[in-house]
Amino acid sequence: MDVEERLEEIAQKLAKRVDTKSCFQCGSCVSACPVSRITDGELYHPRRIVRATLEGEASKLLEQPSLWLCTSCHACLEHCPQKVPVSELVQDLQNLASELGVTPDDIVSEVENIIATGWALAPSESANKRRVELGLPPIPLEEKGKKDLHTIAKATELLSRLKKIKEHKAALKAADEAIQEGGEA
Ligand code: SF4
Ligand code: SF4
Repeated sequence: MDVEERLEEIAQKLAKRVDTKSCFQCGSCVSACPVSRITDGELYHPRRIVRATLEGEASKLLEQPSLWLCTSCHACLEHCPQKVPVSELVQDLQNLASELGVTPDDIVSEVENIIATGWALAPSESANKRRVELGLPPIPLEEKGKKDLHTIAKATELLSRLKKIKEHKAALKAADEAIQEGGEA
């Protein structure tokens, strides 16, 4: 399947999963969105994400790292007068991006941490030492839990998804290096 066919498939998947047709572009989702507020709407803008989807241009969003700034707080959904599931749309776009192998490094690292420890940000040895000094119990990272997490990640194909993302990143890096070497020659 070539890139165009893949993008067409993505557009069809989105249309089936998330109904954005009732959006009348009022912008209430932007006013409610903490990420839009903190970035002055420059970096992240849910109304534009919905508009791009309505116009069949959602696939263009998949390569944008800003797509991953959404905190999944669902404030947009709460405030939308039309009950457009904006946050679900963003999550679907993130899922589709990761299916294509496009996912920021920090998200990959968080997922790997969860599989390895159950924590997105695993407590460090020094953090646990400090807890004990303060009279708190250390945060447990039990071996059995780790095994279960690995089993779940494998059964849900998360491990294969991670592998694909890493392959995609390696291919991009190799392409960059080839371009640089070509420029230096
Ligand atoms: S998704 Fe809802 S809140 Fe956002 S622009 Fe569309 S109608 Fe308005
Ligand atoms: S779920 Fe995402 S898009 Fe919606 S308000 Fe929260 S951060 Fe913004």
